[in-house]
Amino acid sequence: MDGSLVVSWNWRSPPSSITELLELDSCLNDLSLVSIGTSYDKWSWRGCSSGVFSVSSLRGAWESKVYPPLEYKHFWNNLVSIKINFFAWRAVLNRLPVKTDLIKRGVVLNSGTCDLCGAGVEYVIHLPWECCWVRDVWSMVQYWCELDLSDINSVEHLLSASHSFAKSPSQIKMTHAIIFSALWSLWKARNDCSFNNITPSQAHIFEDIKANSFHVDKKQERGTSLNWSSWCIFPLM
Ligand SMILES: [Zn+2]
Repeated sequence: MDGSLVVSWNWRSPPSSITELLELDSCLNDLSLVSIGTSYDKWSWRGCSSGVFSVSSLRGAWESKVYPPLEYKHFWNNLVSIKINFFAWRAVLNRLPVKTDLIKRGVVLNSGTCDLCGAGVEYVIHLPWECCWVRDVWSMVQYWCELDLSDINSVEHLLSASHSFAKSPSQIKMTHAIIFSALWSLWKARNDCSFNNITPSQAHIFEDIKANSFHVDKKQERGTSLNWSSWCIFPLM
């Protein structure tokens, strides 16, 4: 009525307890914020300013909930698959389903020992970075890409430091793609070792990383794309 909202109650039992009266007061407060227009009601998507639903806006809203903000920019790397991006993200956030994590959740395992090195406890930092077996593979990547890993203490640190190693945005992107591919190959090696009794070879994993990231380089379609021999010598030309 005249733009104002008139509410008439039809109580079966009027509110009388303190709780009911507080709920009524809260309800009236909410209603006081409602303004009723003269136009017809319509559906509106709250995921974007236009109010029109789109899959991309849904994905954006979902990603903002799933992925907390990180310190470094541009984590998402379109040179590698969504699966590998997501996996790398989980590794950086220390959310890999490693043995100590599974045991905490009540999964019964024979032990929490890392199957790759057979020595350390497989906790979130151990697997992607601190494991001596894994570190040997990272050393191979280090020499191949001419990275300085001497002061690096985690995967997140390594990704952040890539900004100082690389000379251009495309090199940073390629370096990240190689690191992401390495993380994925290491995880596959760990699973083969833990679940399929396959003893992985570090040299084989390194070859796997080179081959997978070579495929990525072709996808990038940059002007300096290298042939396989040059790629194996140094991939960040
Ligand atoms: Zn280990």
